[in-house]
Amino acid sequence: MKILVINCGSSSLKYQLIDMQGEKVLCKGNCERIGIPGSKITHKTSDGYQIEMDCAFKNHTDAFTKLVDLMTKGDGAVIENISEVNAIGHRVAHGADMFPHSCLVDEAVVAKIDSLSEIAPLHNPAHIQGIRAAQRIFGDIPQAVVFDTSFHHSMPSKAYMFAIPYNYYKQYHIRRYGFHGTSHRYVSKTCAKLMERPIEGLKIITCHLGNGSSITAVDGGRSVDTTMGFTPTGGLMMGTRSGDLDPSLVTYIAEKTGLHGNEFLRTFNERSGLLGVSAISSDARDIENAAELGNENAALALNMLCYQIKKYIGGFAAAMGGVDAIVFTGGIGENSSTVRENVCANMEYLGVKIDLEKNKTRGDVIDLTAPGATVKTYVIATNEELMIARDTLALCGGVPAPAVEKAATKKK
Ligand code: AMP
Repeated sequence: MKILVINCGSSSLKYQLIDMQGEKVLCKGNCERIGIPGSKITHKTSDGYQIEMDCAFKNHTDAFTKLVDLMTKGDGAVIENISEVNAIGHRVAHGADMFPHSCLVDEAVVAKIDSLSEIAPLHNPAHIQGIRAAQRIFGDIPQAVVFDTSFHHSMPSKAYMFAIPYNYYKQYHIRRYGFHGTSHRYVSKTCAKLMERPIEGLKIITCHLGNGSSITAVDGGRSVDTTMGFTPTGGLMMGTRSGDLDPSLVTYIAEKTGLHGNEFLRTFNERSGLLGVSAISSDARDIENAAELGNENAALALNMLCYQIKKYIGGFAAAMGGVDAIVFTGGIGENSSTVRENVCANMEYLGVKIDLEKNKTRGDVIDLTAPGATVKTYVIATNEELMIARDTLALCGGVPAPAVEKAATKKK
């Protein structure tokens, strides 16, 4: 069974074709700048073929047409005909409290995703465009939707409620939803397999640290708290996002600077975080390099990030009444030995101690745990696409393949 995994943004479409027999990625690619001048596609196959070409994509249907063309014809072909694609799995950013699980697409599901566009204006309309384009090209093959929010549906109300008038929750559904759920689910499951223990008996803290970052407390395989909130701006500071703030800042900054409305959103989403504090870059590598060269603001940004991660780990361990494992994933979590070392320093009180030599190594799975530590610490490369493909397979009546996470690996 071959499953096409799709992640549509407003002007982009990322795809992976996965053969579920062995969970092998046959090809993957990215269509960029859809609907804007300068659009292009990058297509790579599992045997090393790679092509990048300029294309005039007016819309997502054009992009779909091109990727199908590359998948079925010429040197980048991995199948002979699109009829070999058995199902499509779409990543959807916001399912709010409407979607506790992944599900198959029908008109009612599309209408619900659309009704959430108001709180996810950059994402949900784009996902619907992807679903419609797939319907146009692939006809009525099964399509599934897998939500970033579903994994957090298990949070108790004490974790998801904000301490504001209750009516805002009742009337406007204002609450913590949490994001990156597919990644937190994937790495927590993989962690339990690595520990050779049933996930039901484990308390795991998963740190997804990338351009967007969130940390989740996973108790018995269920998310019981997470850092992101009503939108993905909340929680930890990120590449360009502020993370949690004192709400009084909004009126104070408005008075001082004249900022208003959407300008605040742009400031807190696009000009804050590592970029805002360092005034250099949103990219953790640039920040680490600048800090090493003595840039004080870069060092401050890095210190703030590590401190916040450490604080959330301590808080979530307290919330769960203990912790058995900590997992680092995402671009920073998988690659930055500096961030991992700083976060895990002085955590012996909690049973956390990492081996600093192992911390310098690279790999999709690294056990960082030092001798004597009672809490396991891992690096686990996330694989949201594989999780989406597995959910799609299960929804189509197939049985997910056995644990072969390492087979479909993420290129760094
Ligand atoms: P993601 O959004 O998961 O793709 O992660 C992107 C982030 O990972 C960026 O801030 C990158 O700077 C960071 N990153 C990638 N490789 C490294 C590395 N070797 N060291 C530090 N940060 C890295």
